[in-house]
Amino acid sequence: MLDIDFDLRVDGQAPAEPFLDRYELEQMFEGARRSIGASLQRKFANIVCEEHAQAPRFKITGIYDNAIEEMDIQYHVDTCCQRFLLRVMQVLNKRA
Ligand SMILES: [Zn+2]
Repeated sequence: MLDIDFDLRVDGQAPAEPFLDRYELEQMFEGARRSIGASLQRKFANIVCEEHAQAPRFKITGIYDNAIEEMDIQYHVDTCCQRFLLRVMQVLNKRA
């Protein structure tokens, strides 16, 4: 299993009539956790550093901005070495 850490949160003041209520936001976060998690597990199931035999570690930051009602998702990757990081980025950027 991959090491994936999620940090999903809401930024900004909720508008008086939010597009998504608290419960729907939680649902959206849960859905993001599930789909991103599944996609990473699939892509990196057999990928470890050839030199150090280490798997990559991921931190996914997702910030839902109340003002524009959009979610910004960023991937942070931690690897044993620079060379493996390049490999991981290639895999990450491949279409699922
Ligand atoms: Zn390495």
